[in-house]
Amino acid sequence: MPELPEVETVVRQLAPRVIGRRVRSLKIYDPKLRVNQPQSVAGRVIGAIERIGKQILMRLDDEDSRGNLWWCVHLRMTGRLIWSSEPGPEIPPLRARLALDGGHILFKDVRRFGTMRLIKSIGELPPGGMDPLSPSFTPAALGQLLAGSRQEIKPWLLRQDRLAGVGNIYASEALFAARIHPRRLASALDSTQIRRLHHAILTILRQGIKHGGTTVSDFENARGESGGFQKRLAVYGRAGQPCRRCGAPVARIAQQSRGTFFCLNCQD
Ligand SMILES: [Zn+2]
Repeated sequence: MPELPEVETVVRQLAPRVIGRRVRSLKIYDPKLRVNQPQSVAGRVIGAIERIGKQILMRLDDEDSRGNLWWCVHLRMTGRLIWSSEPGPEIPPLRARLALDGGHILFKDVRRFGTMRLIKSIGELPPGGMDPLSPSFTPAALGQLLAGSRQEIKPWLLRQDRLAGVGNIYASEALFAARIHPRRLASALDSTQIRRLHHAILTILRQGIKHGGTTVSDFENARGESGGFQKRLAVYGRAGQPCRRCGAPVARIAQQSRGTFFCLNCQD
């Protein structure tokens, strides 16, 4: 499942290819995607592409004062947005195609959990958690989010209504970097641990983006390539292998039926 760095990678790769291009059409091939008035995108120009949490938003500007539209895509499990000069075959996993002057954005999605909508303002998006790369994500803000939680910190980090975009891979990696045991109670972290965790989340997400995301099973970027961060993971997927810090074997436990990887020696 793409996490924040993978989605950010897609946005950064699409931006120089699509901004300023005129939209010809939005074709929906999968009726499970319920998009209101897809014909309303025709003739608009892509003015901006942004990410909020794991939502990808493209602003479609209009010269005839119809007001702006936002094309919003959430990739969920297996969704991909791929830039292509060719339209490609109209068969699964293709679910939708945004045709532009000089190219196409293909929405491919094998498991079909991804979502798409057209909205008039970003305020219409369902409320989500804080984006950890936004300026409002500070150690104090993290402390406020954690306060009162009865969850263990690892499952807490996966809650999209608290922090949007941190998933299973980056949660294990951030806790290892912060030297915090994944079973610690979220509300029991002291201010030093909260500062370390805040720093670790930012560092891990930025490294993930720098290396083009992580490909464990099926993430592909907007060019149809794999990410590079999986080679740099410290603990995720490395059960039994030596900890990169102390050499002890990396442990694996299940929390809410998701695998958690950590070092018994380095994290407490
Ligand atoms: Zn260790």
